[in-house]
Order: sequence, then structure tokens, then C-alpha cells
Amino acid sequence: MSGDCIFCRIVRHESPADIEYEDDEVVAFKDIYPKAPVHMLIVPRRHIASLATATPADRETLGHCLLVARTLGERTGYAERGYRVSLNTGPEGGQVVYHIHLHFTAGRRAARA
Ligand code: AMP
Ligand code: ZN
Repeated sequence: MSGDCIFCRIVRHESPADIEYEDDEVVAFKDIYPKAPVHMLIVPRRHIASLATATPADRETLGHCLLVARTLGERTGYAERGYRVSLNTGPEGGQVVYHIHLHFTAGRRAARA
């Protein structure tokens, strides 16, 4: 557990981010190194390090993150054309920030995040 990670600081508004969506449980903000025309990160406010350490107690939070992806799809106008939602897990899964997050990517170059 680390309440002091970069994403914990962003969800508490202690570090800057271009926030596009927030509710009681989740914050979504632009990735600082976008890999597609639209690239946002969907981050639960509660620190969960990775999918590999998630438990059944995280079920609602993780389900909510997916529904926020759906909301972002609608808000960005990509609901029909489609978008990609991905979750990197662990060193060989490409995870760099150990506070669980979904990548939401969309647009012409939206391939792998
Ligand atoms: P991952 O490889 O899945 O852990 O992805 C971490 C993502 O977080 C990368 O795409 C980074 O560009 C992004 N990132 C890291 N620090 C920040 C930050 N302070 N604000 C926005 N995005 C960030
Ligand atoms: Zn954190």
C-alpha cells in the first residue's frame, strides 16, 4: 500500500493532471505521454497496486472503472467507432505505475496503449 504514489496524489488534487472525469470513486485524466489522439487513464481513488493484488473486495471498484470507460467513450464521441481499454499488469505486462489504472485510447492511431 502506498497512499503517496503519483496517482494517489493526482486523485487528491495534490499533483497536476488534466482531469476529464471524476466521481466519488474514480478519476480519469489525460496520459502525459499520449499514445493515441485520445489517451486517458481511469484511476480508482483507492490505492490498489495492480490487478495481481486485487481481491474480491475490489469487485465494485473495478467494475465501476469499466463503466467509466463506457462514459468516456460516449463523452469523446467514440462510442460507435470504438475505442480500446487496456490494463497493464506487472513487469512483463508493461506496468510502470503501481496504482491500478485502465488505459482508454481512441482515434486514428489508437492501437496498443
Ligand atoms: P502503465 O505502463 O500501464 O503503468 O502506464 C502508466 C502510464 O501513466 C503511462 O502511459 C504514463 O505516460 C502515464 N503517466 C505517468 N505519470 C503520469 C502523470 N503524472 N500524469 C499523467 N499520466 C502519467
Ligand atoms: Zn496510489
